[in-house]
Amino acid sequence: MNDAASKPHPANLLPDAPWLDALTEIWLDAGVVNTPVAKRVVERLPGLPRRVIEGGQAPPGPERAGPGNLVLHLKKYRGRFLRPCPGTKNYRCCGYRIVHIGENCPLACSYCILRGYFRERTLTVFADTEAMFARLDVAFSRDKNRLFRVGTGQFTDSLALEAATGLSRDLVGFLAAYDNVRLELKSKIVDLSWLDAARPGSVLPAWSLNTPETTRREEPGAAGIEQRLAAAKRCAEAGFKVCLHFDPLILAPGWEEGYARVAAMIFDYLKPDQIAYVSLGSFRTMPELFARLAAQPEPPRCLGGEFVTGLDGKKRLLRPLRVAQFRHVAGLLRRGGLDRQLYLCMESDEVWKAVFGHTPRKLGGLANHLLARAFWK
Ligand code: SF4
Repeated sequence: MNDAASKPHPANLLPDAPWLDALTEIWLDAGVVNTPVAKRVVERLPGLPRRVIEGGQAPPGPERAGPGNLVLHLKKYRGRFLRPCPGTKNYRCCGYRIVHIGENCPLACSYCILRGYFRERTLTVFADTEAMFARLDVAFSRDKNRLFRVGTGQFTDSLALEAATGLSRDLVGFLAAYDNVRLELKSKIVDLSWLDAARPGSVLPAWSLNTPETTRREEPGAAGIEQRLAAAKRCAEAGFKVCLHFDPLILAPGWEEGYARVAAMIFDYLKPDQIAYVSLGSFRTMPELFARLAAQPEPPRCLGGEFVTGLDGKKRLLRPLRVAQFRHVAGLLRRGGLDRQLYLCMESDEVWKAVFGHTPRKLGGLANHLLARAFWK
């Protein structure tokens, strides 16, 4: 690790992470008990009951995490720490690679796609960072001319457990030595405890944005939009390019004015040249999760509008509705000075043309374009 990363971790940040109050228990695989991540978790969450699990298995049956029992499970990971984002050939994928640090999230956004991926709410953290770093080193050192845009925010929020684990701080310190890697930390909370361990340029701090109304109603526990943008500004002033994600765009009452308000806020806090890229994605989900959400007594606002089944089998808004969303938000962002930063998440060439007048091919392909944006100085 670099000098910055070898600085001690900051003091316990739990007062700023109230969502961790919902944790009820810590499970530790015997094989990770002595890892730095596990030691930090035990030190930072002293009041929580702990159990050490032999053999890496979660307790069976009724002892497993259930409603009202939010468990933090620290374990070894036996799969691929670095893997491609599960895109689909039917739509334009951004070519992002996942660094797999854990699964699930302590926040409770009403539309969260992770509810479709994971039936249980157990929060899994892969605490064997030594093994992770060894695997990443092999991948990133093989050809130093090969560029990687990676992120940890696919199967969890990148920073929601950071106050307890300090894992992202370790990761940015490790990656500071790799000029060919850009790490995106995507979050809906504010935790900048990793900032002084990172090399500016090597990390892309990223925040998901939505309208203030949707944020208030559908993202309990997450930071307010102004807090997220203030954090983004602080990162930009420290020399980091930041990323913003409008995903999912939601067709709730008043959505046009709502997104206009957020767009105005963005330019109150950030200059266009401080932003690496901005994604626009319409709400989409697996049919089973869609049905579960629709069956709730108060279905979330993300179900507003008319849905069809897309080529990837997911439910998504009718194309004209999606195009209307994208055109509106892209127009607002363009008026503020953003242009080449904008892209659509998992959409077809037809939708790209309807929104931007061209396909990703004009940009050299979406994955290449975003790689260039991530490494742009
Ligand atoms: S912050 Fe992201 S990962 Fe966490 S609940 Fe909300 S949508 Fe899901």
